[in-house]
Amino acid sequence: MNIYPVKFQRHAMPAPVADGHGRKIGYLRISVVDRCNLRCDYCRPSGDDYHAAPRQHLLSFEEIERAVRIAASLGVEKIRLTGGEPLVRKGIVDLVARIAAVPGIRDLAMSTNAVLLDEYALPLRAAGLQRVNISLDTLDAQKFSRLTGGNLHDVLRGIHAAQDAGLAPIRLNAVLLRGINDGEAAQLIDFSARERLELRFIELMPMREGLDWQQHYFPMAELLAQPEIIARVDVSAWQRQGSSAARYLPLRDGQGRVGFIEPMSNRFCEGCDRLRLMSDGKLRPCLPADNEVDLRSAMRSGSSDSEIAGLLRNAAASKQEIGTYRFEARGHQRSMIAIGG
Ligand code: SAM
Repeated sequence: MNIYPVKFQRHAMPAPVADGHGRKIGYLRISVVDRCNLRCDYCRPSGDDYHAAPRQHLLSFEEIERAVRIAASLGVEKIRLTGGEPLVRKGIVDLVARIAAVPGIRDLAMSTNAVLLDEYALPLRAAGLQRVNISLDTLDAQKFSRLTGGNLHDVLRGIHAAQDAGLAPIRLNAVLLRGINDGEAAQLIDFSARERLELRFIELMPMREGLDWQQHYFPMAELLAQPEIIARVDVSAWQRQGSSAARYLPLRDGQGRVGFIEPMSNRFCEGCDRLRLMSDGKLRPCLPADNEVDLRSAMRSGSSDSEIAGLLRNAAASKQEIGTYRFEARGHQRSMIAIGG
């Protein structure tokens, strides 16, 4: 029986959005653009095989802000802006300010390659961005340039700008690539410890990428068997943190920890509390599953806030209980540059 008078029922908080497996959705990742100023082979199809969506397909700032407001009314508290590279979206500081002002949003983060962070860190912090995850797979300038087409020094400058701006915590994400950076993990750990950054290693996922996944996939177990890693982290002291995709091991000197994200070899779907909104306005309930919900068409055809909320609920309800990617799991329709990591 509903005990509230009708006039209050209309304003009652909607029930928090949850999926069909009891997971409460509190986290929305928003890709704001499907273009990038780097060209990492593991993130995008090779050569000319990648076409960004036409400009008019990108959600406008008004549409993104509306999606955030409706998601927040359903209990979403955490937003991560990603891409492509979010800093190449014109007006990104304005977008951050708009999202930071949405009631209910308590955690506003960004994933970036940091190439433009030297210029943007301070204005982003002032606009309400709290923290950043920075991608960095190698500290070898030549290798970095071969792998990404970019300049390592821009990234290092970007990291220091983020530190100076007070963005915290700053995390480094390194994708493990056999034959490319699998011998550099210890160096990345030492660099992160020195710079007081939290490093996380990520297993390569077979998306629609330009390099050969079979050739370059490097399982975390192999990393954790390397003597120089065992010398640095206590491999028997696993820790989990909330719904984070990473599990952590403490550094042996007690001065921090290292994260391990193992989408291929160690399931973490159970704690997943996120939905992904891609730059073309499609909601992707699960990273490895190609089913998507079209928010953009709904918004542009005049759907009400409660209808949009219904679509968010449908997307949450269709989250799957997938355990891990399987080795033969190839042929995804989207690459990471299009989905947003
Ligand atoms: N441009 C931003 C950046 O560099 O962080 C945000 C987008 S990028 C797609 C987000 C993350 O996805 C990066 O850390 C990247 O290394 C990771 N990523 C891309 N392709 C991947 C793959 N095939 N497997 C695992 N991680 C991948």
